[in-house]
Amino acid sequence: MRIVHNLDLVNYNSYKLHSIAETAYFPESIEEITEVVTHEHPIIIGGGCNVILTKVKYSQPFLFIRDNYSGICQHEEKLIVKAGTDLKVLSEYALSHSISGLEWFYDIPGCVGGATIMNAGCNGGSFGDLITRVTFFDVDKGIVTALPKEDLHFEYRGNIFSSMNVVILEVELSLRKGTKEDILSLMESNKANRWSKQPRDFPSAGSVFKRPKGLFVGPMITELGLKGYRVGDAMISEKHAGFIVNVGHATGNEILELIEIVRKKVKERFNVELDVEQRMI
Ligand SMILES: Cc1cc2nc3c(=O)[nH]c(=O)nc-3n(C[C@H](O)[C@H](O)[C@H](O)COP(=O)(O)OP(=O)(O)OC[C@H]3O[C@@H](n4cnc5c(N)ncnc54)[C@H](O)[C@@H]3O)c2cc1C
Repeated sequence: MRIVHNLDLVNYNSYKLHSIAETAYFPESIEEITEVVTHEHPIIIGGGCNVILTKVKYSQPFLFIRDNYSGICQHEEKLIVKAGTDLKVLSEYALSHSISGLEWFYDIPGCVGGATIMNAGCNGGSFGDLITRVTFFDVDKGIVTALPKEDLHFEYRGNIFSSMNVVILEVELSLRKGTKEDILSLMESNKANRWSKQPRDFPSAGSVFKRPKGLFVGPMITELGLKGYRVGDAMISEKHAGFIVNVGHATGNEILELIEIVRKKVKERFNVELDVEQRMI
């Protein structure tokens, strides 16, 4: 297993925040994962595309589940995917095998484990819609176990794992046959549509807030005149007010401060409590 000391996390989080991990583990097997998790109580990171690093330096170790623990196994339209597999790589694999269902995940940055924990999704549905089984290490019980979809209780950006201490190891996805032309066309149109609305020219971690039922966060923040509002180098995107972007050398604490300002103003004006989707570490 690769172990790196004093790793600058700038290339391991999509906000591009600088922060040092005193120890970072890159396991390649279930045995290595369970060993580190059992003895070190690490912070688990996949693609780092939905996290805010709030510390300058972490003495708590990091465990990375990304390309060091990735792979796809296919049984017709069923894919068994390791948690570190990149969503773009996965959707490109599906395209090349004429398997439909993952077109929406082509443009959602991150890995399969992170997408499972977050139940990532967009207009086209959520990752949990495709999942039929998840294998994970239950840290509190110290066992590797698997649960079928019925027991996972997927909901908007959540599931049974939200209240558990687990490492996602493997996910089974039930997909369907498609034609390469249709799959590619949906992947590309979805990507073009998203890029036309989202600030892809600056680092971010996607939507900051969960969508309150029946409401849209971006328009509320826009109405407050907060587009372009900054704390240091953390800025409410001028393109999409639901995103905070790093326009230079933002810190996690600047992002947190900006989030609190937005939450306070939204509460005052609209009487709506915004929940943060991104995970603060
Ligand atoms: C430009 C941009 C656009 C985005 N658009 C969307 C969108 O449309 N929809 C959407 O839902 N999200 C979106 N996101 C957010 C992000 O892409 C998703 O939440 C994605 O699923 C995060 O995956 P990750 O591997 O990067 O997770 P990470 O950020 O690494 O981790 C997220 C959480 O999952 C935990 N975790 C990660 N892997 C594991 C594992 N194997 N076992 C246990 N816990 C784990 C982490 O501890 C953390 O709490 C966007 C982000 C960006 C930068």
